[in-house]
Amino acid sequence: MEINNEFRQLGLSEKALLAIKKKGFEQPSPIQKITIPVLLSESCDIIAQAQTGTGKTAAFGLPIIDLLDGQPKGIKALVLVPTRELALQVCDEMLSLADKRIIITAVYGGQSISEQQRRIKKGVDVVVGTPGRILDLISRGDLDFSQLQIFVLDEADEMLNMGFIEDIEEIMRHTPKEKRVLLFSATMPDRIVKLAKNYMKEPKRLEVDKAKPTTGLTDQIYFEVRESDKFDALTRIIDIEPEFYGLVFCRTRNDVDVVTGKLIERGYAAEGLHGEISQAQREKTLSRFRKKHINILIATDVAARGIDIVDLTHVINYSLPQDPESYIHRIGRTGRAGKQGTAITFVSPEEYRKLNYFQKATKVNIRKELLPTAEDIV
Ligand code: ADP
Ligand code: MG
Repeated sequence: MEINNEFRQLGLSEKALLAIKKKGFEQPSPIQKITIPVLLSESCDIIAQAQTGTGKTAAFGLPIIDLLDGQPKGIKALVLVPTRELALQVCDEMLSLADKRIIITAVYGGQSISEQQRRIKKGVDVVVGTPGRILDLISRGDLDFSQLQIFVLDEADEMLNMGFIEDIEEIMRHTPKEKRVLLFSATMPDRIVKLAKNYMKEPKRLEVDKAKPTTGLTDQIYFEVRESDKFDALTRIIDIEPEFYGLVFCRTRNDVDVVTGKLIERGYAAEGLHGEISQAQREKTLSRFRKKHINILIATDVAARGIDIVDLTHVINYSLPQDPESYIHRIGRTGRAGKQGTAITFVSPEEYRKLNYFQKATKVNIRKELLPTAEDIV
């Protein structure tokens, strides 16, 4: 077992190294390299920043699992995440890195609370959850945080964007004073730094790629498309790429429904994802997309937040996102884990100024291309 050498130098246990080997991780990502040793050997709070898709979950997951190993039962770590999908995803990623003796459970809205209460009662070591459901369980007296040692705020920028600040503060008040707070985020707006100041003890800031917020593995282009031509442009892009496996971002739930409906009508394997779709259905859709039973997922920003799908060929902005940070988040969905992807943005004449602003704010160059014509389609 001579691989994992770089992982070995981080101070992880043999058990962790074995799990890493099973996962097929060959070397630690930059954020893992800088956070794991600090988390394992020091007791400070940390603020960690790295682009989307760079393995932040394992950056806190691996050391937490090692630190908690062999300790008596009880909730010792709490991971707060902004969405239901992320609760499941982060929980799954942590489970895949831990041995079976460590009990990790996800709690989130839209799923039966009694089932979640039952799982907690049986004894858990790590709870991963959304703020709303965590508060609900606290108010029902189901969460005993007296043993809590580690409090993780994952995707902290998204949690703030989604208005969870008060919920986070309320949850903080129900946890012991003596604990470590670990904050992970793709971007670091001032509000995060403020939150950190209020709730953390002299946190260490660990960051990767500060000047380069987007992944270099994503080719970023835009097409000039009038609103009324966007749907045709979309089908052309899909048709031209035989292995198309992409996420299409729309601005509203209604746009998601309309675009999805039209694609299905034309025989594409597409499904939509937004907040009005039931949790069960959303999970089914995601799972079908992951298994590539469908190759096109149409979603709103909120529904797609943080969703980790490793080998997308395309991310398409059917319309421009609200702000530069959302743009970075959206395109962070492709070009992950060392694979090249393409991010395509449709820009209508009215959206030009906004695009220019995005380029300046994100310091990325989004290249203009001409839409493929019918002849280009194989
Ligand atoms: P982030 O939270 O930074 O957006 P994730 O934790 O969701 O990123 O990880 C993105 C993907 O990269 C996941 O599929 C994860 O399993 C994978 N990954 C994490 N660390 C490594 C690594 N060291 N080598 C290869 N893949 C990794
Ligand atoms: Mg993450």
